Amino acid sequence: MTARSWAFNLLIFILIPGPSWAEAPRVAASIKPVHALVAAVMDGAGVPDLLVGGTGSPHSHALRPSEARALGRADVVFWIGPEFETFLQKPLDSLASKAVRVAWMEQSGARLLPGRTIDGGKSSARDGHVWLDPANAIVMVRAIAQTLRRADAANADLYASNAAKTILALEKLDADLERRLAPVRAVPFITFHDALHYLETRFHLNAVGFVVVTPEQMSGAKHVAALTAEIAEHRPVCIFTEPSFGPDLVETLMDGTHLKRGTLDPEGAALRPGPTFYFDLMRGLVDNLTACLSGTAVHER
Ligand SMILES: [Zn+2]
Repeated sequence: MTARSWAFNLLIFILIPGPSWAEAPRVAASIKPVHALVAAVMDGAGVPDLLVGGTGSPHSHALRPSEARALGRADVVFWIGPEFETFLQKPLDSLASKAVRVAWMEQSGARLLPGRTIDGGKSSARDGHVWLDPANAIVMVRAIAQTLRRADAANADLYASNAAKTILALEKLDADLERRLAPVRAVPFITFHDALHYLETRFHLNAVGFVVVTPEQMSGAKHVAALTAEIAEHRPVCIFTEPSFGPDLVETLMDGTHLKRGTLDPEGAALRPGPTFYFDLMRGLVDNLTACLSGTAVHER
């Protein structure tokens, strides 16, 4: 080997850091809303793996081989928690038994709401759509930063400053959404699956029902009859479908009423994951809510 190629090899060695160099820990996040906050806190240090990507539903998901591999190599896993992502409990135990787990629903300070049943009762499980209250997002950003600072001391300052920036942006978002939703607060509406409890509670919205509890669960004739009666009584202005769910049953419910149809994407099925996802998701929900609910004078199909 010539002196020149030795020097070249040495240069390559210096320029390409090997695995022995200090690196950010391997981090995985369960669903897009969790992934977005982790990505924002890790910005500049690394990129978290997303376990449920694309249009995958957190309500029923089977991990693909690539997702199982991401889980298997994770040092830290952020998720909503076992009550919501039941599909993830077993893979976590078998593939990521040594990883640090951080569940959003287990953070002190998180505001948790009871699950609701189709007949208006409370379910035994708590509602897992915790991300739809920006105050909960702030609680989770703090937990993410604290966990990463411990797992990766070299980047501690970066995580702290990213978290502070993200929290400021979330506070601004919360105030902005509150201002935008204020004029339509009282306008009654129906959602497709019961995803919006946190948003309704935080911004005092007037949801009067939902078509199904989870997107995969079809409603029986009895529930459809009850919903029809509810529509007659509360006279909701809008019924919201979701990107991949709803149309047939919703058409039936709209029949002979003045209901307008809108679309909501509370789990971000149609949105691209990444550090701005959370803001895109929340603004998108409010855009679609206000667009349908504010046109109360126009009754169209
Ligand atoms: Zn849901």
